[in-house]
Amino acid sequence: MARERLYLFDTTLRDGAQTNGVDFTLADKLAIAGMLDGLGIDYVEGGYPGANPTDTELFGQDRKFDTIFTAFGMTRRPGRSASNDPGLALLLDAKADAICFVAKAWDYHVRVALQTTEEENLASIRDSVRAAKGKGREVLVDCEHFFDGYKANPKYALACAKAAYDEGARWVVLCDTNGGTLPHEIETIVADVCKVIPGDHVGIHAHNDTEQAVANSLAAVRAGARQIQGTLNGLGERCGNANLVSIIPTLKLKPEFSETFDIGVSDVALKKLAQVSHALDERLNRGSNRHAPYVGESAFATKAGIHASAIAKDPATYEHVLPETVGNKRKVLVSEQAGKSNILAELERIGIKADKDDPRIGRLLEIVKERETIGYAYEAADASFEMLARRTLGTVPNYFDVTQFDVNVEQRNNAKGERVTVSMAVVKVRVGDDNMISAAEGNGPVNALDRALRKDLGKYQKYIDGLKLTDYRVRILNGGTEAVTRVLIESEDENGDHWTTIGVSPNIIDASFQALMDSIIYKLVKSGAPA
Ligand SMILES: [Zn+2]
Repeated sequence: MARERLYLFDTTLRDGAQTNGVDFTLADKLAIAGMLDGLGIDYVEGGYPGANPTDTELFGQDRKFDTIFTAFGMTRRPGRSASNDPGLALLLDAKADAICFVAKAWDYHVRVALQTTEEENLASIRDSVRAAKGKGREVLVDCEHFFDGYKANPKYALACAKAAYDEGARWVVLCDTNGGTLPHEIETIVADVCKVIPGDHVGIHAHNDTEQAVANSLAAVRAGARQIQGTLNGLGERCGNANLVSIIPTLKLKPEFSETFDIGVSDVALKKLAQVSHALDERLNRGSNRHAPYVGESAFATKAGIHASAIAKDPATYEHVLPETVGNKRKVLVSEQAGKSNILAELERIGIKADKDDPRIGRLLEIVKERETIGYAYEAADASFEMLARRTLGTVPNYFDVTQFDVNVEQRNNAKGERVTVSMAVVKVRVGDDNMISAAEGNGPVNALDRALRKDLGKYQKYIDGLKLTDYRVRILNGGTEAVTRVLIESEDENGDHWTTIGVSPNIIDASFQALMDSIIYKLVKSGAPA
């Protein structure tokens, strides 16, 4: 039986840009649009031309995307004609394949926010759709507050949706703008709408205020809607929008949906999903949610010993889908509860051959346990675990020694007479028979130390040129009589690979130094640097 086409509409660059603390540059927007295009998203909403310089510039450019690049804006203002509304004119002139209008669908908002009549609002919807179609654009209409409006006055909410459809809008999108509607309500109301407007012209735009935006989107599809609007990583104001990163694999991998629908995302593109999700976080300069469904670092991670041995026998026993399908990895955590089977499973995963009767495995387990009691957390630091394992098994070359380092922090007046704090680090390194001294300044002592350490590693420098630190997290642990500092450093290389290293010490510089060293040595091992 032929499957039905279900369309995905991404609004990361428009609704997602409403997120607190998110401020996309033009370069960000182009890069994110490129990733969405590469995934196979049908529609990418770029922004609101005329509303700010970035969006105006974005829609002034020629782009080469397969996706339907969509501009967002308001229907014509009440009391004006479509040809005499400057905002609408900017929208119609934007270089966009489609235009998505936002329109009021709740009689209360029409009266109070728009301060106009119900009939004038309907006329505004009709006129705007007609004007955009006249410009040769595909037209979508977001019916704002549709579900609240429907509960208050179903007849009027439907009249708004119908006005858009009858005038030729390709999609009428039902928005749960306040995000408070529950899945069973969504299913009932969307089914009602689909009696009046064919479902293959109906879309759903859900917000996550009851943490059910994904469930609401799927409920709408069950009821007949054939377009889902959402954002990468569920970005969006307040609690966010429907998370496409969770919706896409659900549609692709769960038979209820995959046997009924086709989406624009191929099996091959699905394997890039985790990478796309993490790349967005990186652009936003924030850590990824480890517990994100499907793509989080912990999404396929198991801790307890009995699970680990079961997973080694048959992964499907503890996984709802295969991690590789979404570009993720299975992970068996090494932890306080670690048994030999965890360690062996983890070694196998990272490609270290080990015999279960090798006494060094028992020794490694002991070291892990000892270190975890003083604050190390290897389940959060995969690369440090790997370094510890390789060292215990005797397979890490001694590339270089840091014979001495010195870090100082100085507060003084700069040339402008302003009070500034400057850090400087000096590092002495021995590589083979060569002794090297590097010095560097930084915005803080750890930054200075990192710069000095990676400035000159002699013959190894070329292997670490692509190494970047992407996150640095500090936690003070209160164990025993004195506080201990735990530092986690996330690194990335030129291949886009990520790893995390850890250091623990009463001294934050020392803890940071351990984590930095692990990261550098991990990179040298990974790059196959010669001993
Ligand atoms: Zn929204």
